[in-house]
Order: sequence, then C-alpha cells, then structure tokens
Amino acid sequence: MSKKLAILGGRPSFKNKIYVTRPVIPSLKELEPLLKDILESKWLTNDGPYVQQFEKQLREFLGAPYCSVYCNGTLALQLSIQALRLSGEVITTPFTFAATPHTLYWNNITPVFCDIDSGTYNLDTEQLESLISPKTTGIIPVHVFGNPCKVEQIEKIATYHGLKVIYDAAHAFGVEFDGKPIGNFGDASMFSFHATKIFNTLEGGATSCSEPNLHQRLRDLRNFGIKSEEEVVSPGINAKMNEIEAAFGILNLKKVRKSIQKRKMLFERYHSYLNKLPGLSFQQIHPKAYYNYSYLTVEINPEVFGLTRDELYVCMRKEGIMARKYFWPLCSNYPCYKALPTANKNLLPNANRLSERILSLPLYDDMTKKDVDDITKVFYLFHHNAEKIKISIPDIQN
Ligand SMILES: *Cc1c(COP(=O)(O)O)cnc(C)c1O
Repeated sequence: MSKKLAILGGRPSFKNKIYVTRPVIPSLKELEPLLKDILESKWLTNDGPYVQQFEKQLREFLGAPYCSVYCNGTLALQLSIQALRLSGEVITTPFTFAATPHTLYWNNITPVFCDIDSGTYNLDTEQLESLISPKTTGIIPVHVFGNPCKVEQIEKIATYHGLKVIYDAAHAFGVEFDGKPIGNFGDASMFSFHATKIFNTLEGGATSCSEPNLHQRLRDLRNFGIKSEEEVVSPGINAKMNEIEAAFGILNLKKVRKSIQKRKMLFERYHSYLNKLPGLSFQQIHPKAYYNYSYLTVEINPEVFGLTRDELYVCMRKEGIMARKYFWPLCSNYPCYKALPTANKNLLPNANRLSERILSLPLYDDMTKKDVDDITKVFYLFHHNAEKIKISIPDIQN
C-alpha cells in the first residue's frame, strides 16, 4: 500500500486508461462465415434472413410472445409510444438516459417527472399516483441499471387508472423478475443493443410485447408503414436493423449468459472491498430479481467518505480510471425540460441527491480481478488521504 496517489503527484495506477465498459465482440473467425454469406447474398437489410433468425432467437431468449428488432433502442421506444397511441402527459423518471424523456418530446408528449426511491434508484411508486392527471395516458418506468422496477405495484396503478405502461428496459437484457423474463411486464418493453450495453449489435434495439395487433403496428411503423408493395398503412419511419447487425447479435447472444456470470464475480469482488469503506452505498437490487450485473455504481456520501463525488471523479481520472457520472446531469435539469412544473428540484429530492453522488466504475467481460483490486485499492487511499486531497484540488464547481 505504498502507492502515492496520482492526484498527490504519484504515477497513475492505470498507464493505459481503464473505461467503464468495453463491448463484447465476436471473433473474426466467428463473424467471417456470416459476413461472407451476407455479402454473397447481397441481402443487406429489409427483414433479411439474419434479422428473421435473430428475432426468433430473441423471442426464445426473452421468453416473450412477440419481439421486433430496430436500428437502435431510442427508435424502438419512440415507436412503442406511437403504437400504443400515448399522448398528452406520460409519467417517467428523471434519473435516466436522455433518450427516455426525448422520445416523449419527439412524440409531442409532456414528460411528467416522478421522483425515485433512494435505495432502488427506480420510480417511487408511492408518488406515482399523485402525478396522474386527466391528460395522463401512460407510464414509462426505467429498470435503472438493470434493477427491476416494482412491476406489481406499477401494474396495479396502471390498470386502475387505465394507463399504458412501456418499460425502458435498455439496461435489463437477461434480467428476470420472480422467475419471469423482464420483457413480459407492461404493455411493451424496450431493449437497447448499443455497443455500451451488456448485449450489443453494434447499434440496435428491440421491443417485446404480448399483444399481436400492437406487434403488427410496431412492425409497420419501423418500415415507413409499408405493408406491401401496394399498401402504406401508417406514417411510419425507417427504424430497421440491418443484416450485419443481426449477425453480430446472433453471435453475441451465445455469449450473454457467460458474460453475466463473469460480471457477477467482478461485481461481488468490488462490493466485498468497497463495503468496508465508510460513506459508500450501493443500489438495492429487488430481492425477486435474477440480475444481469450490467453496471457497477457507487453512491458517495461526501460527509462520511471525506470527498465529494466530483472530487473523487477528478482523483480517479488522474489514476487513469475513467469513471462516469451516470446519471448526471439529471434529465429534469436539462434546459429543454427544466421549466416543466414537475422538473422543480424541490419535487425531486432523491433524484437530485443521487445524481450528485453517483459514480459508475469499470465493469466489463474482459476485465481482470486485478483491475478490480487496483481500483478498490485507490478507493481506500482516497478515503485515507481525503484531507490532503482536499487541499491539493481547488474547489470543483459542477
Ligand atoms: C441506452 C439507453 C437508451 C437508448 O438506447 P440506444 O440504443 O442508444 O438508442 C434508452 N434508455 C436508456 C435508459 C438507455 O440507457
């Protein structure tokens, strides 16, 4: 433990920067025959054989009656909102990625922000009901960092008030709730297959649902509403996945279960070390969840730990550890939303506090135990050298 911290003039722990994530990729050898086949057939997009095969496999993996793939998760969510004919106001969380409220905005819907539960980081179902107005048509809860929402309570509220529910399950691929795959809750669920997610198709996304008409509307919408050469049934858009992305998906799908196992091991190793430090806490995963270990986040209590999140962030970057502030800034504080009545900071105390205290640390498949050990080791040093560090870094403005 003789290491001198980089922020205090020592050498960085990671000469080569370590990032929060690195994508799972197929080997060239695995990819080559599929690529060759696609190039030879010259069927590159428009519901080709690889997209069809991938959708069939996804249906099995997600255990959902209907499944469609898209060029990205954002369009999958945007089209779900259209296909379910949401309008007026939709209740969602501010503690999410920009895409969640933006898809509402692009559908001319006013996002209504509901505060989060400070332990699970998900929508606070106690507050949800008080935000329902005559204009409310739906709820878009997010399974934040893959942690399942209180799906039973949400379903009860939505059923009583006649609201649609679309889950933003962008982080939740491979997750199960009470033995049921996560895509089986609500009217529809959206998954993201972006390169930074636990399962990727370079870029891509999917929806799962159980209602055949909804499924058909989604498929029409993703291809301009074109039903046949003779018939255009709705003002759709181009949201199709291409054959190379689908081939990538087919190969990566075989790796997901192993990936979750590896991440679990690293995740638990992180926790066993960081748990011993004062002022750090972790997301409370739903006890009924089979979890996917998609993110390693830590919440810093500055008074107890000795450093603020932003100070810690600077210290980590100096060590070559490229931690990220997910989710900062909070969606309700973006210039485009902050004037909304429900974006008021006083109404969203938990989300605002968490957003100022949260940090995502590196977690991905080909990370080693030693990487975890090296990262947690500097956490100990940050805590024990907090006072010296405070003096050496000037006040950090947000
Ligand atoms: C990544 C993400 C999306 C958007 O998915 P893309 O595939 O990048 O378009 C939506 N919601 C959340 C919570 C995300 O993290």
